[in-house]
Amino acid sequence: MNYSDEIPELGRVATELDGRIIGGRLTVNGAATVSKATAASKINVQTKRKKEAQTLQAKLAAKAAQLGPLLRELSPIDRLRKLREEITGRIVFTTSFGLEDQVILQMLVESDIDVDLVTLDTGRLFPQTYDLWAEIEIRVGRRIRAIYPQQAEVAALVDREGINGFYKSREARLSCCHIRKVEPLGRALAGAQAWITGLRAEQSAGRRDMALVSSEKDCRLIKLNPLFDWNRKTVYDFATSHNIPLNPLHAKGFASIGCAPCTRAIAPGEPERAGRWWWEDETKKECGLHV
Ligand code: SF4
Repeated sequence: MNYSDEIPELGRVATELDGRIIGGRLTVNGAATVSKATAASKINVQTKRKKEAQTLQAKLAAKAAQLGPLLRELSPIDRLRKLREEITGRIVFTTSFGLEDQVILQMLVESDIDVDLVTLDTGRLFPQTYDLWAEIEIRVGRRIRAIYPQQAEVAALVDREGINGFYKSREARLSCCHIRKVEPLGRALAGAQAWITGLRAEQSAGRRDMALVSSEKDCRLIKLNPLFDWNRKTVYDFATSHNIPLNPLHAKGFASIGCAPCTRAIAPGEPERAGRWWWEDETKKECGLHV
């Protein structure tokens, strides 16, 4: 086997004496030399991991393909029930306390569906969001587990970019979203078999291309968006008919609510997510949670 062709980090070094090749070693990243046995063992581990990842991906894709048509015919609440029946292991629901998430939380609690309730506290949320968080915990009688960014990462980010550095460039904004949201989400979903979100197709052009059920290869789980095909009015009507407390910012024109410095109210007729990162290109408005 040609190791250096299989693994780009590996190279070969020949030992020459008086013009003759008398030996050879493999190199890793052009530096430390390793024996052939060590290199072979590395290859075996990598090959095994790759095969395991491929097998898992194939299984997840097959499960998502099986669940898709099954859940499409059901109401959102029955989709949640069915997901619980079909999935063995931990299911995580991530809420940001927006309209859709409040409705899903009500459905989960009403039907006593066993899921892990989680929120990502970026440290930059609106005061109204924190108030609603406290209020909804009392209403449902459950703690919503908060996942926080890594303190050292936030400190380094603020040191590098400034406290509101995300306005400077898309790279700085994505970096902030990664540290405050994406990395904590990874910890929230670690070891889970499924993930429930409040994403809807109508929310943006990018989200229309997503699906009711999908396999998330990076997170190694099934993702369900139970309100995927509901429009905003239907979600809102459900909330009002069930007396669900909503973030008061919705009534002030904030259709989609995230971090305070990156969210504004929208004008009538504007797309729902126009108030998020409004200074950026409309087609690229995701924080990395849903890709
Ligand atoms: Fe940072 Fe804004 Fe992203 Fe929140 S939405 S994590 S403040 S860039």
